[in-house]
Amino acid sequence: MPHDSSDLAQHLEEFERETSAATDRASWEQLRLKWLGRKRGIVRDLLSRLGSIEPERRKSFGQAVNRLKNAVETRVQELDDELTARERAASRQSAAVDVSLPGRPPAVGTVHPVSLVVREIVEIFAGLGFSVAEGPEVEDDFHNFEALNFPEDHPAREEQDTLFLEDGRLLRTHTSPVQIRTMLDREPPIRVICPGRVYRKDNDLTHSPMFHQVEGLAVGRGITFGDLKGTLEAFIHRLFSRETGVRLRPSYFPFTEPSAEVDITCPFCSGRGCRVCSETGWMEILGAGMVNPRVLQHCGIDPAIYTGFAFGLGIDRVAMIRFGIPNIRLLFDSDERLLRQVRG
Ligand SMILES: [Zn+2]
Repeated sequence: MPHDSSDLAQHLEEFERETSAATDRASWEQLRLKWLGRKRGIVRDLLSRLGSIEPERRKSFGQAVNRLKNAVETRVQELDDELTARERAASRQSAAVDVSLPGRPPAVGTVHPVSLVVREIVEIFAGLGFSVAEGPEVEDDFHNFEALNFPEDHPAREEQDTLFLEDGRLLRTHTSPVQIRTMLDREPPIRVICPGRVYRKDNDLTHSPMFHQVEGLAVGRGITFGDLKGTLEAFIHRLFSRETGVRLRPSYFPFTEPSAEVDITCPFCSGRGCRVCSETGWMEILGAGMVNPRVLQHCGIDPAIYTGFAFGLGIDRVAMIRFGIPNIRLLFDSDERLLRQVRG
């Protein structure tokens, strides 16, 4: 194949044309491979033909190829530098802070639905003259059972699925030991509300091994079942609505006598009957009763002088009803998506 300097001049022209199209990294790379590639590059190809050229033309052809090679290498390098400079400028620009953009507010935590309900309940009872009392979550048998009239071998002890510690103490199964501690500590009149965590072995879709209760206690002279009913009605009307119906059903708890379970008209259907209330129109919301005289005696309070009432309810259940949360586990997963949806 004949080769002379005019071929090389054409190559150079072609190369010049192509450089003007190499405006980005990909087209520059194509250009480099086409002209300077080690395998099929044009310059390499021309150099490999040197040996087949007649000796008298070999020198001038070789010089011309070298000039082309130098021109191509120089220009490819210049283009590389230009592209690099442009790329750096672009990345600096994208990293630059645009002060005209609106700020990103820091993620602020929300109050957990259980805490919201506790606050609300405490506030309602504060208005009725109750103050908050708290107690330890690790308890002993006396405060959690015995003083509350759960004698040894009482079947109600079994029902509570207690979590015991190795030293014989236990995780309180209800907030009732706080009532005992309060009565042992103070003289009547007593009006306390005791919110807190309680623990049982249950763990399934409707039970969590840790859950929240709030318990109330009033002890004084002449406190009657009527006071209990009036207090609970006032509380339920504040917590849900004035229209909420309240009904008491006789029940049994070792620490109250008489005892009642308290139902409210279903807040989802206003008592007409729906899936949530199993079409009954009612929902069980709390347990209550007059403090058993034996419990008063255990705490050194004379039942001939004083009477009292006590009540307890599951805070988680109230939070689920209030915020339409279908599964108790959702309450304790701390999933931000749930927490963000719940506002007090
Ligand atoms: Zn209903």
